[in-house]
Amino acid sequence: MDGIVIIGAGECGTRAAFALREAAYSGSVTLVGAEPHLPYERPPLSKPVDGAVQMKPICAAEALEAAGIDYLPGLSASKLYADAGTVTLSDGRVLSYEKLLLATGARPRRIACVGAELALDFRTHADAKMVFSRAEVGKRVAIIGGGLIGMELAAALRGKGIAVSIVEAAPKPLGRAVPERFAATLHAKHLDEGVHFHLGQGVAEITDNAVVLADGSEVPADVVVAAIGVLPDIALAEAAGLATGNGVLTDGFLRTSAPDVFAAGDCAAVAQPGGGHVRFESWRNARTQAETAARNMAGANDPFTAIHWFWSDQYDLGLQVAGLPQPAHQSVLRSLGGGELEFYLDDGRLVAAAGLGIGNSLAKEIKLAEMLIAAGVSPDPVALADPGLNLKTLLKSARAA
Ligand SMILES: Cc1cc2nc3c(=O)[nH]c(=O)nc-3n(C[C@H](O)[C@H](O)[C@H](O)COP(=O)(O)OP(=O)(O)OC[C@H]3O[C@@H](n4cnc5c(N)ncnc54)[C@H](O)[C@@H]3O)c2cc1C
Repeated sequence: MDGIVIIGAGECGTRAAFALREAAYSGSVTLVGAEPHLPYERPPLSKPVDGAVQMKPICAAEALEAAGIDYLPGLSASKLYADAGTVTLSDGRVLSYEKLLLATGARPRRIACVGAELALDFRTHADAKMVFSRAEVGKRVAIIGGGLIGMELAAALRGKGIAVSIVEAAPKPLGRAVPERFAATLHAKHLDEGVHFHLGQGVAEITDNAVVLADGSEVPADVVVAAIGVLPDIALAEAAGLATGNGVLTDGFLRTSAPDVFAAGDCAAVAQPGGGHVRFESWRNARTQAETAARNMAGANDPFTAIHWFWSDQYDLGLQVAGLPQPAHQSVLRSLGGGELEFYLDDGRLVAAAGLGIGNSLAKEIKLAEMLIAAGVSPDPVALADPGLNLKTLLKSARAA
């Protein structure tokens, strides 16, 4: 038995490696990553600065070395033998482990239609470089999928003056993760910025110069990007006989069905107190699950309880969502100078909040809303809607009570 091995050097795997040291774990830590670079952040890929793709490392090589993390880039784990406690890498090396973390993330869903191979993915730094090098001014880009990634990419391309169309099978963009009110505002913003939407439309074919829709109409396109969601990367776990579903199934402590094997981040579907498993795809989730998994691998027994939170930047607008808003929740709107906040109450109790405003202007309010959610408050909806009521005061009185 030899130390802790982490498979996948994305946000989750890398954060877990450092969190092991923060938890005073002193054994060996090996971080195996299929990509060739230093671990890097994915969110900046769809938020280019001055039109250029950013490569923002999560950490410097020196930081990995200083923490005693053995980073193996450009290598993938090809076989996991959970009974033997070993993992085989693509170069034939066999690592034995005391504990193993699966942080294999997710892969883009591939579109199934004639000409699908012409569509570019948008997940890795290599993908982003390819998309931004092919999408020059004067070219027409069609993005298949009006989710968060497709919409962020559209905003980035419009910022460079490139013609963009979005083809979306649902009747509205952003239907999956974004509260309806803010999805509508963002949709309107994209329309104002000149994005062409083809909603409620499936794709029949992709050709060299167009996306052919199910109704036979054509969307002219020199570059086609498929942004139709991701699938958890569960291949290694599945082949090793671990329980899987929409992700590697874990209990509430991020332990998989195999002894000493944990899973976290985009690849993990985590058991919920009310039953079922939920898999989140967000930067914060990758980090907070990494921290819980690391502590538990180092000997703690902490349930994963962090409140879900994500953000998205499109044009000059910043969206933040804390908790899991549901259509059935009571919604309370608070209008502020820089934007709008919406709170979501379940049976009177604050369970989620979302805000859309210029840049990062609502970050402080969302942070306070997160604390209020964690405190389990049941605020008066009228007071909550009043921009004159300071959320900090509400938090103080909730804590005092
Ligand atoms: C373009 C883009 C923009 C985003 N913007 C936002 C945002 O604004 N806000 C937000 O909250 N979230 C955003 N996200 C989502 C967020 O980046 C992800 O949820 C997060 O990166 C997940 O981290 P992860 O480590 O779990 O998975 P990943 O980042 O997918 O990392 C997994 C790594 O494991 C490697 N791997 C897989 N299998 C193996 C193997 N067998 N052996 C070795 N290595 C392996 C993969 O190559 C990959 O590098 C964005 C994502 C993308 C793609």
